[in-house]
Amino acid sequence: MVSDRVFGKLFINGEFVASTGTDTLPVIDPFDQSVIAQAADATDNDVHLAVAAATEAFNGEWRETSAQTRGQILWRIAAALRERTEELAELETRASGKPIADSESDINDAATCFEYYGGLATKLQGDVMSIDGAMVMAVKEPVGVAAQIIPWNYPMMMAAWKLAPALCAGCTVVLKPSEETPLSIMAVAESFADAGLPAGVVNIVTGRGERAGAALVEHPDVHKIAFTGSGEVGAHIMARAAKSLKRVTLELGGKSPNIICADANFEAAIDGALFGIFLNSGQMCSAGSRILVERSIYDRVIEAMIERVKDLKIGAPMDPETQMGPLISQRHFDRVRAYQELGKKEARLVLGGNRATGPGLDKGWFVEPTIFADVSNESRIAREEIFGPVACVMPFDSDDEALEISNDTSFGLAAAVWTRDVFRGLRFTRRLRAGTVWVNHSQPAPVEGPWGGFKQSGLGRELGRWGADAYLETKQIYLNTEDTPIGWP
Ligand code: NAP
Ligand code: MG
Repeated sequence: MVSDRVFGKLFINGEFVASTGTDTLPVIDPFDQSVIAQAADATDNDVHLAVAAATEAFNGEWRETSAQTRGQILWRIAAALRERTEELAELETRASGKPIADSESDINDAATCFEYYGGLATKLQGDVMSIDGAMVMAVKEPVGVAAQIIPWNYPMMMAAWKLAPALCAGCTVVLKPSEETPLSIMAVAESFADAGLPAGVVNIVTGRGERAGAALVEHPDVHKIAFTGSGEVGAHIMARAAKSLKRVTLELGGKSPNIICADANFEAAIDGALFGIFLNSGQMCSAGSRILVERSIYDRVIEAMIERVKDLKIGAPMDPETQMGPLISQRHFDRVRAYQELGKKEARLVLGGNRATGPGLDKGWFVEPTIFADVSNESRIAREEIFGPVACVMPFDSDDEALEISNDTSFGLAAAVWTRDVFRGLRFTRRLRAGTVWVNHSQPAPVEGPWGGFKQSGLGRELGRWGADAYLETKQIYLNTEDTPIGWP
């Protein structure tokens, strides 16, 4: 399955090439800890070659490529993703531990993202103004070479969210996938030439954040950095990028509230709450990890959640029935386990709280879906991003109290509210400090809409036309319509 032609290589200037160094990084299957491939650990020199290729492509052919042609290329990349869904989904699942059904759905979403930006390429517009004796135009131009650094939790989707708007805008790119999950996007690169993408427009360097990632952030010819990952690394990148005033967009973590009002559709709210925290084993920036429940239904909600989680199928990621797979790595497993233990001291454990055991689960980094009740918003489990299947449930007595708890966090990525009272829902949407507020839903991120965080959840917006804006500069062109001297001195 894992092709020698592609894996262990870097994708630079349209070719799969060996690293200039000799270090490699094992890609490990989180289900059984087997090594499925070795990825190249790109050196500073490799990063330099990739940026040079992106720079040359930007200054050459790509700049002159029409928006219509760029759009058609994006459409053909989408078509390749759809045709290769089975193969790509398997790579995604083997490297990430994500259930295969979720990987298939992610590849579909990634294709939809390329299609959307393929369509948008011809619709990026500037403005024209008539000012005194002049015509002033505001035109949009690509920002230049973009460095894109992405995490392991949604490898294909994060690659699509980054690549598609950048290409739509006319930028060239060096992408660094997570060291844990470099396989699926490297496989996609095999389809770039057939899609008509010129050499050097997209380059992929696999490797470590501290090396390849840092070299990209420091590189003088990189004009923009788009990052998704932890707040800690995001802040570090922003500080380093400030030295050369690179444009930076950051999509960071969250501790998103999921508010269940007593008048909600009960079944829908339980469903949404479980989906919001246990999907992808809770490894989601927008996970609804703080579940606030109106006191009159508090006990009933907890009972229903416990009852329903029993039906959740935890198991082999390649099994199409599996709904929850292992966590990504030993390091992350240790981190989530530590939070489970901390939670036992800080709150009332009502479900899970341990490593998950059972047939077929012994080698993988599985943890039990875990629910803590009566969680204080002051506790560490309520304030820190766990990034695992750990729900913190807390009661509220009034909407004001629910809002106060919800907004009392350093994050602001997303929030959900469940109510059948339309005005109650609208009041919440106005007062919740978050980049996305879902009413009677959890987790949808339609490609047409804006996505990003308030406060420490990030900077800038991805998706929709906002996603393309992040790769565009605005240039003023001033045309004097009078063929006379301006009269000075
Ligand atoms: P991370 O360290 O922030 O990694 C994200 C990306 O940044 C990876 O490609 C990483 O490279 C790279 N990177 C790391 N250090 C860098 C540096 N100094 N300069 C440039 N790039 C650098 O996140 P993680 O280690 O994958 O996970 C840690 C925590 O981050 C999680 O537990 C979770 O809380 C959070 N997280 C959030 C999201 C999200 O969607 N917002 C996604 C994943 C994780 P390598 O990892 O390949 O070395
Ligand atoms: Mg890392």
